[in-house]
Amino acid sequence: MKKRVLITGGAGFLGSHLCDRFLKEGYSVLCMDNLLTGSKENIEHLVGNEDFQFLHNNVSEFVHVPGDLHYILHFASPASPIDYLKMPIQTLKVGSLGTLHLLGLAKEKKATILVASTSEIYGDPLVHPQTEDYWGNVNPVGPRGVYDEAKRFLEAITMAYHTFHGLDTKIVRIFNTYGPRMRLNDGRALPAFIGQALRGEDITVFGDGSQTRSFCYVDDLVDGIYRLLLSNYNQPVNIGNPDEITILQFAEEVVKLTGSKSKIIFNDLPVDDPKQRKPDISRAKEILGWSPQFSRSQGLIPTLEYFQNKVQSGG
Ligand code: UDP
Repeated sequence: MKKRVLITGGAGFLGSHLCDRFLKEGYSVLCMDNLLTGSKENIEHLVGNEDFQFLHNNVSEFVHVPGDLHYILHFASPASPIDYLKMPIQTLKVGSLGTLHLLGLAKEKKATILVASTSEIYGDPLVHPQTEDYWGNVNPVGPRGVYDEAKRFLEAITMAYHTFHGLDTKIVRIFNTYGPRMRLNDGRALPAFIGQALRGEDITVFGDGSQTRSFCYVDDLVDGIYRLLLSNYNQPVNIGNPDEITILQFAEEVVKLTGSKSKIIFNDLPVDDPKQRKPDISRAKEILGWSPQFSRSQGLIPTLEYFQNKVQSGG
């Protein structure tokens, strides 16, 4: 009998890549999504696969899954700043109530559960690079608070189920990740810059562009998550690519890569925008034997191809 895994947010960017990976590894996959920010297009290639099932459901309301379940991956949440600014209550609910429901389900099914946390729990970090034992610098009532605090609650309740109920839980702290199936218009720097470059529009750098990010290719991230799920480690683990770049340098890189004639322009920096972000991945290396395999130039090739098709089809 195949092991059965539930992936919430399975029609989203990361969730759909996780569905692909688990099917490839021989699991039966139950993909759950309310399609708020996810899209059926991300999983349409899986429809008809007898090991794949899609369930339209909002995990913040209620979760019911008949039959055996061995693993749960909780990836449902708006995750880009413009999404969670538009949907602050849904974001808070899915990180809190949604996580509670899935932990309850994991307990009932005696399943291992991995929850998606984020580098945002470090806020605008005062420690650089960010290690897992740094507690963060988050403004609870700022615009990003709805996401950051929901994810901090997600970590706290997950750890409580681990210590109090002995549930097998895993927490991954995901740093900026990119690849095919990101939405061109999700407002994040990487798809925004590539979309603007391909359409010949101005590239909108926020602030002076000196803030840094570290971009991880999606296949690397998925591999780290897969290893973490199968490990016996229950503390949070950073997964990301430590190759740090300023946003202005990244904008210049996109102009060069696309051969675009776009100009770089400077707009206002959003409130509470983190100034720097780079994962310390020593823990992932030591415990999971994991480190990223794709350089940015390698990962941007399939990503650019995906966005080129999207722009051409007007998507
Ligand atoms: N950013 C930018 N131009 C854009 C979108 C984002 O300069 O069109 C900046 C944003 O202010 C932040 C960085 O790029 O400093 C990364 O933003 P993103 O939305 O990708 O994710 P974040 O890491 O902030 O969650």
